Amino acid sequence: MLVALGLILALATPDWRQAYAMIGLGGCYVVVLVAGSLMPRLDFYLRAARRGSASRPWVALTFDDGPDPTTTPLLLELLRRERISAAFFFVGEAARRYPDLVACAAADGHLIGNHSDRHGYGWTVSPAERLFAEFEVANRTLADILGQPPRFARMPAGISRPHLADVLQRLQLCNVAWDVRGLEGFYRHPERIAARVARRARNGSIILLHELYYGTLCLKPRQALTTAQLTIDRLRARGFHFVRLDRLLEQADPAVLSSERNPPLDSGVLLIENGTDKVMNYRGAATATPRAGRAA
Ligand SMILES: [Zn+2]
Repeated sequence: MLVALGLILALATPDWRQAYAMIGLGGCYVVVLVAGSLMPRLDFYLRAARRGSASRPWVALTFDDGPDPTTTPLLLELLRRERISAAFFFVGEAARRYPDLVACAAADGHLIGNHSDRHGYGWTVSPAERLFAEFEVANRTLADILGQPPRFARMPAGISRPHLADVLQRLQLCNVAWDVRGLEGFYRHPERIAARVARRARNGSIILLHELYYGTLCLKPRQALTTAQLTIDRLRARGFHFVRLDRLLEQADPAVLSSERNPPLDSGVLLIENGTDKVMNYRGAATATPRAGRAA
């Protein structure tokens, strides 16, 4: 639309300002497209689930970029000990290398999601069929291991593009982003990461942590494990309960529901907002002025 407007301006006023107007409008157009691609919060090309119902003090823990033969077993053991069912968004080619880890995570009651086949970014500018293949091949890999295709997908780095909504619809995948993420590569220290997540979490938050940064060595297995442990401890200290992602989004998957570890919650007891440790009785909170939203 901005390009069309620039063309109209150029034709209407044939002088040097035409060029500046077109360049400016073209630049704005590119900025909008890039922002729409890189910021899932904008829902520019497709909608993404970021948060479940805020009526309960619950959050869902999710891990990206596995499976990994060193990190995944550590996390599975931690989650077993803590009795938490999480969601793992696995990369297709890694799942083909370590199918036992995928099967083990599913057997433990965790939700398995599609995190693209190669975790590259070529699909962001490729033809539609290449885009489709990136998610269809990963879907097929996970279906071969689990006996059924995943129902949820998360885009690498949350990137989106035109036609992605059609692809996910064809594959019957629900797109999931996050409400709070650890940004482990930036904050580095598990204490700082866990503090950031706990501070920003609120009722219904989808929490994004990484098993590793796929294709890089910038997140070590012990660092990922300590980060997960501290994050769990701090979120529990604030009064949050953990539920599996599909339950948080009220799209429970009957195929794996029976193995979920998360205990049932009593009806709304606490209302916890981000950025504060103030915990209110839910009935009292229902009449309180709601806090303003926040960008994660
Ligand atoms: Zn990723």
